[in-house]
Amino acid sequence: MKGKMKHGKYKVVISTVENQYGERVPEKELFLDFDREVVILRQLNCHSSADLGLGICRCESHPLYVDKEYKVNWDLLWLLVTLIEEAWGLDALQKIED
Ligand SMILES: [Zn+2]
Repeated sequence: MKGKMKHGKYKVVISTVENQYGERVPEKELFLDFDREVVILRQLNCHSSADLGLGICRCESHPLYVDKEYKVNWDLLWLLVTLIEEAWGLDALQKIED
């Protein structure tokens, strides 16, 4: 997989929370964007979201998730890939965009 990972966007789910239907929904996700050379940490902002089955909030006055974007370089992206695969396994990174 590594050899092909020269462009595109990948994500790894760092943590999840259980909603009222017993499903796990993402709480924290990390996105690695090789094209823009950025890392984005996405964190759940509303733990009462109706969309996610967590509660009755429609999230009209606040975002459901909040992103923090970090500008990085290619070497750091590769390091993150290595660390993620060591920590969570080779299938942890999901390709989400070409
Ligand atoms: Zn909300």
